[in-house]
Amino acid sequence: METNSFILKGNICYSKNKDELSVTENGYLVCVEGISKGVFLQLPEKYKGLPVKDHGNALILPGMTDLHVHAPQYTFRGMGMDLELLEWLETHTFPEESRYQELDYAEKAYGIFTDDLKRSATTRAVVFATIHGPATRLLMDKLEASGLKTYVGKVNMDRNCADYLREPSPEASLEATERWIAETMGQYRNTSPILTPRFVPTCSDALLAGLGDLRRKYGLPVQSHLSENLSEIGWVKELCPWSSCYGDAYARFGLFGGEAKTVMAHCVHSTEEEVELIRANGVYVAHCPQSNTNLSSGIAPIRKYLDKGIQVGLGTDVAGGADLSMFRCMADAVAVSKLRWRLADQELKALTTEEAFYLATVGGGSFFGKVGSFEEGYEFDALIADDSGVRCARTLTVEDRVKRYVYLAQEQGRLVSKYVAGRQVMGKM
Ligand SMILES: [Zn+2]
Repeated sequence: METNSFILKGNICYSKNKDELSVTENGYLVCVEGISKGVFLQLPEKYKGLPVKDHGNALILPGMTDLHVHAPQYTFRGMGMDLELLEWLETHTFPEESRYQELDYAEKAYGIFTDDLKRSATTRAVVFATIHGPATRLLMDKLEASGLKTYVGKVNMDRNCADYLREPSPEASLEATERWIAETMGQYRNTSPILTPRFVPTCSDALLAGLGDLRRKYGLPVQSHLSENLSEIGWVKELCPWSSCYGDAYARFGLFGGEAKTVMAHCVHSTEEEVELIRANGVYVAHCPQSNTNLSSGIAPIRKYLDKGIQVGLGTDVAGGADLSMFRCMADAVAVSKLRWRLADQELKALTTEEAFYLATVGGGSFFGKVGSFEEGYEFDALIADDSGVRCARTLTVEDRVKRYVYLAQEQGRLVSKYVAGRQVMGKM
């Protein structure tokens, strides 16, 4: 359906701000040309000609942004979850990622990933692919067709990984990357390229310097990993003795915020200096609580980042995280923040469900612009959630039902439909 001016009726909930949910029972949510016009209890006269879809007692929520997910790792999610990061990369990740040089395999695997992402609560995602340009393009074709809005990165790595996955030289990696940029930049409506050095240990200084040049030349955003694991941080110190912190090893090459819109996954063990660099450069932190737990990485001090005004969103980090659910991601963010408060640092209080909801919607959404809210002027990304299968003897408020859905979505919850920028991408039309 091309026309994207309409009204959704139901129980509407979104983040007014980080600490507060706006809840309207039996309200009207107006979309005009893909943009939200706001939520109304009484429908204003000027919108009365628009078609209304009545969703009865269902919950209407903003779409969610997965700020960090690895598409090729979807095939082995839930496996090797008893290993730590560097061992897990060697055992599971690198061998699997090498399979994407075969397009037949990529076709099958990326088809499954895209189908499942489309059915999930995610409306926008920032995605890692592999080093393979052709397979990355194939993934972008599939994501484009899904209607979801995505940034997708062809990965760069020219050192410290198995031969079968190492690009032969910085020059070869840069040349393949520039070819891939030429083939994909501006070619899609929903999907755009993002520069993706895997992380400092697998990228030589020459490669990072060349990626910095490509960034300036094409004005592309950047994604990578930062301070996830203590052994990894020690390794970066050895590889880049000139750097003052891990983040500085990206910043030196113009790949750390400022002019470059940048998202860094994890930031579990960032030093004070690194946190200040993240803040000053406007770098986004993609908090991936399930992955950080599965790979024994630690717990990122998200409360500190929020207090400092750092931009934070949530990521599933499949397959460090085992599933694509952003609801599960929110619940995990709250849970690990409580453990951190209890076990490590009682000065940083735990996250609330309201805050986790904000991070999954507005927090990560802002990487894409005005996204993640139903306030007037935001792009219209919406989910219709049916929680009638989650049975309860009590009568609950809409706010209780939303908070409960965060925890119980996977039990008996059901997404009925989904809109991205005003276009319905899932559910009965
Ligand atoms: Zn990752």
